Amino acid sequence: MPIKIFDGHNDVVQHLREYRPDGIDFLERSTTGHLDLSRAQAGGMFGGFFALGVFAKYNAAEDLTVTETGYEVRMAAPLDPVSTYKEITLQLAALRSLEQRSLGKIRIATTVDEIEQARRDDAFAILLHMEGADAIDPELRELGELYRSGLRSLGIVWSRPNIFGRGVPFAYPRSPDTGPGLTPAGKDLVRECNRLGIMLDLAHLNERGFWDVAVLSTAPLVVTHTCVHALCPSARNLTDRQLDAIRASDGVVGMNFSVGDVRPDGQRNVDTPLSLVAQHIAYLVDRLGIDRVAIGSDFDGATIPAAIGDASGLPHLIDTLRQHGFDDAALEKIACQNWMRVLRLTLR
Ligand SMILES: [Zn+2]
Repeated sequence: MPIKIFDGHNDVVQHLREYRPDGIDFLERSTTGHLDLSRAQAGGMFGGFFALGVFAKYNAAEDLTVTETGYEVRMAAPLDPVSTYKEITLQLAALRSLEQRSLGKIRIATTVDEIEQARRDDAFAILLHMEGADAIDPELRELGELYRSGLRSLGIVWSRPNIFGRGVPFAYPRSPDTGPGLTPAGKDLVRECNRLGIMLDLAHLNERGFWDVAVLSTAPLVVTHTCVHALCPSARNLTDRQLDAIRASDGVVGMNFSVGDVRPDGQRNVDTPLSLVAQHIAYLVDRLGIDRVAIGSDFDGATIPAAIGDASGLPHLIDTLRQHGFDDAALEKIACQNWMRVLRLTLR
């Protein structure tokens, strides 16, 4: 039996033809990007967290500074909440119309039971995630609306500041301790997500924000797409202390394939051997235990190793992990069961 994968993060919504006229048809095999239904099925991926969000377009000439030891990208500016909310509702509508057009092949799930049912029916399960709470006002009025629309996972920030907290800049080498923690509105957001049963994703959040959530949240700590700071000191990656806190909370870390966050030299080079990805996963398993490590590919949102290429290449990673000594029971946990476990502890 091939290993079935539920993935912790992708940005394909930005590229759907239901969202932008020049986008891809998710139901047809595409030659661009990383993810569509056909390539997911070829790779054993039966579902994942799909990110809604508004991201920055960087200009290498103006925004990127190459330093002696690495790089630094200028922090993206804050977003306007009203126009951001409008984009998010367009993205939600795009996914709903894709779901309809798929005639049952794709299902937007809001519970673990629905995800597991989709798996048994050979359907593809989407869990709605929003990457950055920039569309939400300080009274959190939009949060309930989004929950009713099916949102079950929320990143407090992307790599920019908002009224709730601050993301880390894209920088290497850099500590994730890059500024102040959550604002009072950010703390309210944590409490409200706990109450509603929305999973909080601490990817992109700076370190003080992380510790604020660790103190406040009643749910396990989750970072959907990140890597190990001790192996690649990019600001996006988690320190050993953060990993220890995630373990103590019984949370989960999804391993990001983004080469710039995997490679010890921080370079964005697709010739990145999968043994390096396996090294991060082995480190995470040592530090967190086998029940707290998962996959968060960042398909269609990052530069990933050529050896994976796209979603159809996921079995190459599974093979590499086997060579590193992971047996089927461990692989099932990393590929799927750990996401189901933490979602069961978090969703209502
Ligand atoms: Zn991200």
